[in-house]
Amino acid sequence: MRKEINRLKAEFCAKSCNEKLARSLVSAMAVQLDPTINELSDIVTAVSEAVTNSIIHGYGKSGKKKEECIIKLECILYENAIEVVIIDKGCGIEDIEQAKMPLYTSSPEMERSGMGFTIMESFCDDFSVTSEVGKGTEIRLYKVFGGDSLCENTTIPQ
Ligand code: ATP
Ligand code: MG
Repeated sequence: MRKEINRLKAEFCAKSCNEKLARSLVSAMAVQLDPTINELSDIVTAVSEAVTNSIIHGYGKSGKKKEECIIKLECILYENAIEVVIIDKGCGIEDIEQAKMPLYTSSPEMERSGMGFTIMESFCDDFSVTSEVGKGTEIRLYKVFGGDSLCENTTIPQ
């Protein structure tokens, strides 16, 4: 049984300036576990990809009013790991397996590269996507800190 040692819940508007806010919140929680620079940048980069997706894809074409475009972020610290959940109530994903494929993007006109999910999956030790069309999307990221990590990336794709 994993022992929970801290938890944060936040809600913010789906505005691009809040990508930085999400990164800062997750960093502030993660540093409590004394991660390496690479471990920290891995989880922060993965969170950034998920939040960007909620803003651009989840709410971008949803037709919702601005005040309804809210992203929820939950961050749970365990003794040697962090779990981050990112939830939007946007348009949802029709075909999750297709969306997770490297280089797949539904927005080539926006010059997206289709690598967000691939980054989340490869930078974290565990990763899941739950989504319902018209209801929204939930991303769960789990990263182990402290040597047991299955993956630690030394370079961050731009
Ligand atoms: P990149 O992240 O490289 O800029 P991308 O965002 O298109 O490009 P992914 O992040 O891998 O690539 O996402 C793949 C596809 O999954 C997106 O093009 C979009 O269709 C869909 N998607 C991802 N997240 C969401 C979301 N929160 N709501 C709705 N659709 C999503
Ligand atoms: Mg993306």
